[in-house]
Amino acid sequence: MSFDLVLFGGTGDLAWRKLMPALFQAFRHGTLPEGGRIIGIARDDLSDAQYRDLIRSRFDNVDLDKRPSPQEFDRFAGLLHYLRLDLSQPQDYRRLATMLRERHAETVVMYLATAPALFTTVVQQLAAAGLNRPNTRLVLEKPLGHDLASNRAINVAVREVLSEKQIFRIDHYLGKPAVQNLFAMRFGNAVFEPVWRREHIANIQITIAEDFGVEKRGSFYDSTGTLRDMVQNHALQLLCALAMEPPINAHADAIRDEKLKVLRALKPWTAETLDTHAVRGQYAAGKVDGEPVPGYRDEPGVDPQSRTETFVALRADIASWRWAGVPFYIRTGKRLAAREAHIVVNFREAPHAIFSAPPGTSNRLVIHLQPRDGLELHLLAQGQQNRREGATLAPVQLDLDFDKRFGSERVGAYERLLLDAIAGRLNLFVRSDEQEEAWRWVEPLLEHWRNDTREPRPYAAGTWGPSASSAMIARDGFCWGEEC
Ligand code: NAP
Repeated sequence: MSFDLVLFGGTGDLAWRKLMPALFQAFRHGTLPEGGRIIGIARDDLSDAQYRDLIRSRFDNVDLDKRPSPQEFDRFAGLLHYLRLDLSQPQDYRRLATMLRERHAETVVMYLATAPALFTTVVQQLAAAGLNRPNTRLVLEKPLGHDLASNRAINVAVREVLSEKQIFRIDHYLGKPAVQNLFAMRFGNAVFEPVWRREHIANIQITIAEDFGVEKRGSFYDSTGTLRDMVQNHALQLLCALAMEPPINAHADAIRDEKLKVLRALKPWTAETLDTHAVRGQYAAGKVDGEPVPGYRDEPGVDPQSRTETFVALRADIASWRWAGVPFYIRTGKRLAAREAHIVVNFREAPHAIFSAPPGTSNRLVIHLQPRDGLELHLLAQGQQNRREGATLAPVQLDLDFDKRFGSERVGAYERLLLDAIAGRLNLFVRSDEQEEAWRWVEPLLEHWRNDTREPRPYAAGTWGPSASSAMIARDGFCWGEEC
């Protein structure tokens, strides 16, 4: 299948750090369809050769399992082309139309790796240049707006020129093998379904922790915050994968319909829960890996009086027969104790205890998403015999490591998503109504924090967040995975 992949923002950070390496991996694995062109677009005046050299020089700093030899890179670079185009200038799009017409590829993927403020202009100008053909696919990077209204405005503009099945909204968490595994675990095995409900599950915890700070993105982050950056998208998509009903088949809309129902069933915030079910934190100076690191307000680009959150912990409730009364806790933030994403499913205690069990980590399924990708089932087993007292129970784990099991067969998130966009598979992309529903749910909290003049709860860098996060979950009689 011939394709043209047009990379708007072809010289940007996302393009060289994530997209080019992912395309290279697909090329190396032989999964990138043959006969393709990758066309980088930005305002710099570069020839194809200069663009290839730019990408080659950046490959020294990207994360690849094996460095390419010069010959291998040259073969990949043969796919790379460059077009200078100012996205704010309507007349410039004609040059893109001419370039694409030269070849009439079967599929044209337009990947918008640029600031979202340009999205509406770009789609309108693509249409004006006649580039919204049936073979066009549009990939939109997050963030898609900064609230419900701006998200809707982008969706409306895009749907004026393309149909929903041509629109690929990225949430790169959905491309992670570990997240796809959640679907495989729940809907490929019969064993989990009977216990996957309120009768057997006490609570579910989603943790997405980063140990790094805002790095060079201080000013972007200061106007965004963790709720927009992580909760509205990645964390809620994980919650949907955990809570959704089994879809009728594996087609994109069947899966998205079920995710949408979960988002619609999230209990709305009340004046009370805005304070009791959500914690806004901000990191102060501390130590990460033994090294001192500055507090958020001392980071470059950050307002020294900023009240932007770098940590969120919240409790979500789903009003449905399956989940009534089961709290879903979400915790995510920067400068936490580890770089780690995992889900903890805490099952209910045995209804009648005949053994004296030690307190601890049993009755629990831990799904590791990153950096490890695996499943751990924590159980109680007959421990070492105590000669005097007889049987004692000890916690043990059934441990499944998917990286070890599948190793190099695993496909990285961006590689998966790019290949799917080229092939037209929408399963791992987010539909507009899902996105809008997620914004609708977080908006009252965004609004509440915008008007809240209290300081965010401080936490020392390198810890698991403010103590209010532990207090919130302890009020319900539970604790975060690492605390109990
Ligand atoms: P970036 O490094 O600032 O790159 C922006 C790119 O857009 C550059 O190639 C820039 O080239 C081009 N550009 C900007 N204005 C343009 C114009 N008027 N005409 C043509 N090209 C223009 O930004 P980024 O970090 O790659 O992020 C891009 C988008 O992806 C953002 O929405 C970001 O939030 C999102 N995102 C980024 C990451 C990441 O890891 N970086 C992760 C997830 C999402 P010139 O300025 O030379 O024209």
